[in-house]
Amino acid sequence: MHLEKRVLVTGGAGFLGSHLCERLIAEGAHVICVDNFFTGEHRNLDAIRTHPRFELIRHDVCFPLYIECDEIYNLACPASPIHYQHDPVQTTKTSVSGAINMLGLAKRVKAKVFQASTSEVYGDPQIHPQPESYWGNVNPIGIRSCYDEGKRCAETLFFDYHRQHRLRIKVARIFNTYGPRMHPNDGRVVSSFVVQALSGKDITIFGDGTQTRSFCYVDDLIEGFVRLMESPDDIVGPMNLGNPHEFTIAALAEAVVELTNSSSRIIYRPLPQDDPRQRQPVITLAQETLGWQPAIQLRAGLEKTIAYFEKLLSAGNPRERAVPKSHHEVLAQTRGRA
Ligand code: NAD
Ligand code: UDP
Repeated sequence: MHLEKRVLVTGGAGFLGSHLCERLIAEGAHVICVDNFFTGEHRNLDAIRTHPRFELIRHDVCFPLYIECDEIYNLACPASPIHYQHDPVQTTKTSVSGAINMLGLAKRVKAKVFQASTSEVYGDPQIHPQPESYWGNVNPIGIRSCYDEGKRCAETLFFDYHRQHRLRIKVARIFNTYGPRMHPNDGRVVSSFVVQALSGKDITIFGDGTQTRSFCYVDDLIEGFVRLMESPDDIVGPMNLGNPHEFTIAALAEAVVELTNSSSRIIYRPLPQDDPRQRQPVITLAQETLGWQPAIQLRAGLEKTIAYFEKLLSAGNPRERAVPKSHHEVLAQTRGRA
């Protein structure tokens, strides 16, 4: 007999997923982490791997999963542009088939199910800052579309399962989040700038650096996840979770250079296609319904992130590939060990 709440976390070996698994273990839950290790890392689970209330299953969410659980956090999906653009068809399948499989599982076992959606559903927004009521400005056929449209379709599925099958859903729209355990070569701006600064390489600003993002520290975000999951059943979202403090990419580069005491030069490279000009969440809904708002300022969060990457790089670890594994390699491993 299970006395603890059994919580499934898909994508649990990734950046956000591993922090979430740790938090849930600390709260006394039995955590089942499902991951195909496309971008996830075993070392992210070092603190909990041997915990008696932790289970790890190597599995691809594009395939059905039959287990028993009370809650599901569906995080499985590569999140950085170079990762999700590496195999765009698989990215869409992960969002869409993954959502169908997790919703089907939730329906069978009557679990509550949380979807890690994204600010990318707003595309290159024409309304600023972005409230949840904004429908977005998304290119359906560009190089970011596999991610943006996959996540939009997943939201559609969540709301149809909610209306049609009365499933208890929680949809969070996550804005740029950073912190320890980001993949060092994932090309995301915070990890890239910190790794470049620490290794004395040029810091690459794409475009002129006037585009903006709003950066949330990982601990703040995980607090928002847990509060949303624990909120009453009539709170379903979509709900923006992110830090409303907006920074230009140039200001971020300067802060990283200063905090790392780096001698790196800042250089400019062409802006990637469909790169959003600006992004800033309206978080009134989360503030009013969850009593949640971020507490960690960018400089404090950057200091913790820099300390993590300093340790990782000084350990000579890891000899990372920018794109860790091909999908076929991941699939072969997943099937081989299933
Ligand atoms: P991440 O790449 O570190 O983690 C994703 C995890 O999912 C990895 O462990 C990966 O191996 C796993 N995965 C990928 N495809 C899978 C599949 N088919 N089956 C099983 N596992 C699979 O990324 P993250 O930053 O931790 O993002 C987690 C979730 O949050 C994603 O859904 C992402 O879209 C969403 N999100 C993140 C951010 C952010 O700023 N970090 C912003 C918006 C949304
Ligand atoms: N960016 C940059 N240099 C880099 C990596 C990213 O200037 O080395 C820019 C990128 O063009 C974008 C912003 O930083 O304008 C955030 O990029 P990221 O990939 O982290 O997130 P997203 O674009 O998905 O918000």
